[in-house]
Amino acid sequence: MAITWIDDGKINFRDQRVFVRVDFNVPLEDDGSGGQKVADDERVRAALPTLNLLLGKGAKLILASHLGRPKGRDASQSLMPVALCLQAHLNTDVIFADDCVGDGVKKQANDLKAGQVLLLENLRYHSGEEKNDDGFARQLAALADVYVNDAFGAAHRAHASTAGMAAFVDKKAGGLLLKKEAETLYGLLKQPKRPFVAILGGAKVSDKIGVLTKLLGKVDKILIGGAMAYTFLAAKGVPVGKSKTESEKLTIAKSVIESAAARNVQLLLPVDHIAATEFKETATPATTSTLGPEQMGLDIGPQTRALFAEALKGAGTVLWNGPMGVFEWDAFGQGTLAVATAVAHCGGFTVVGGGDSVSALNQSGLASKISHVSTGGGASLELLEGQKLPGLLALGYEF
Ligand code: AMP
Repeated sequence: MAITWIDDGKINFRDQRVFVRVDFNVPLEDDGSGGQKVADDERVRAALPTLNLLLGKGAKLILASHLGRPKGRDASQSLMPVALCLQAHLNTDVIFADDCVGDGVKKQANDLKAGQVLLLENLRYHSGEEKNDDGFARQLAALADVYVNDAFGAAHRAHASTAGMAAFVDKKAGGLLLKKEAETLYGLLKQPKRPFVAILGGAKVSDKIGVLTKLLGKVDKILIGGAMAYTFLAAKGVPVGKSKTESEKLTIAKSVIESAAARNVQLLLPVDHIAATEFKETATPATTSTLGPEQMGLDIGPQTRALFAEALKGAGTVLWNGPMGVFEWDAFGQGTLAVATAVAHCGGFTVVGGGDSVSALNQSGLASKISHVSTGGGASLELLEGQKLPGLLALGYEF
């Protein structure tokens, strides 16, 4: 079975109850009057093309998502604030159901008219969601005539709403966001325009080692920054002082370095640093090319920024995931900003994934200059590692 996408005309959505698994796992903040509001609506906006297409085709929409990691019902992680946000974007009323399964919700779903939108309460109020419980998946499926998955950010999870329920609904399809993410990211692995440059950063080698190993066989250059760079420098015998390193990853870091050399992949590591003697926002930053025993590297230094920018010049394809330093703190955020700028202006096909890199792009107003900003950090990494994402597998995607 090949995957059906919602825009390939194979399914008639008119008057159908269409269950759309969206990724509305958005940050919430105080609304100033004791309630909550959506702090960043990027994920809601990312779902709009699919929702508008389905509404235009006369569907009855039933939307479902998780938000946070509640253990049972928890008013602080309700999707109610998302209903208000969505209503403003869709320009139509959004009916809110105070649960996602049960007789009351079933009646609300059955009473829907074409063009109406019902948003269900947080799927993770029920433990059956993450357990991919059969009974829970059947209850969700009973609400719908058609199942659509557009939650790329959750596609690496085999949960009831992202995978299990697909088996219990006759008609199923992938949404426009899922399609764009899958086609773009698999496209990177299949036919990248060269030179292909990958930039990896962030906290841990262990989180990125899968993708790093896979990319070694695909890219021309790998630039490594962030805390993970210090494990690589330590593996090369470079003094890293008190920088964050993973001692149990030294061997694998060494073998990545050797394997890059054997494949003629240029692997670039920081040559200077913005260092501090304590891990604190107010710590005094010092620029250095040699870390002393009391120092820790918290950002890439100016020479490294120039080196990385030079390596990005003329790139055909760029993939960037993970910050170059502790970008949350201004004094250690310049390296990440410099990489964001170099990626945005390199002229190649650019893909950025991972919450921190994406928020650095947003902060610097550069997101619109990136070819594809992925909405799923974990999902994009697992896809690029070559894993078959359960959300795509359940729809019959041919990998
Ligand atoms: P990740 O979620 O793996 O992409 O890691 C992101 C986190 O890594 C951010 O919170 C950064 O503050 C942190 N980080 C990046 N560079 C460093 C560094 N040199 N030392 C400590 N933490 C870092």
